[in-house]
Amino acid sequence: MQIFKYDIVFQEVPHHISLAFYVCGCPLKCPGCHSTELWSEKNGYKLDIPLFNEIIDRYHDRITTVLFLGGEWRESELIEFLKTARERNLLTAFYTGAADASPALKSHLDFLKVGPWRRELGGLDSPSTNQIFYDLKNNRILNHLFQREHNKEIPHDPTHP
Ligand code: SF4
Repeated sequence: MQIFKYDIVFQEVPHHISLAFYVCGCPLKCPGCHSTELWSEKNGYKLDIPLFNEIIDRYHDRITTVLFLGGEWRESELIEFLKTARERNLLTAFYTGAADASPALKSHLDFLKVGPWRRELGGLDSPSTNQIFYDLKNNRILNHLFQREHNKEIPHDPTHP
């Protein structure tokens, strides 16, 4: 897997601190994409399981979730990273621009965002968005947690990272 970068993010998975891996080679090329650096695999560097574990070691105390965004064309490879994350007692999340993910991939995920970026409809924080954010474990859609008005109303629960 080729990644462009990794980063700690706070808003992509509600109520969780995620270690996000930005995967290169996204084949979807949504018009208006904000991350065109993820379109070509050549922009990235290789992430393998030893490096993945090394990065997790560094951040494990600060995160609850591992998130993959962008490229998604090598499902079997992605699943190996998701399995490793779960073995490290972390939750797993995946953002895809596709309309759905396969049952095999979903079985390794706790959270899933589907749907391509459509400027006229907006992202997850827009009520008109075409994108859907699922909590797969609890079989719930969590889009409302991304919308500002709702966020103001949701008290932070310190017992729930
Ligand atoms: S799926 Fe995401 S990274 Fe890929 S083209 Fe669409 S917006 Fe960009």
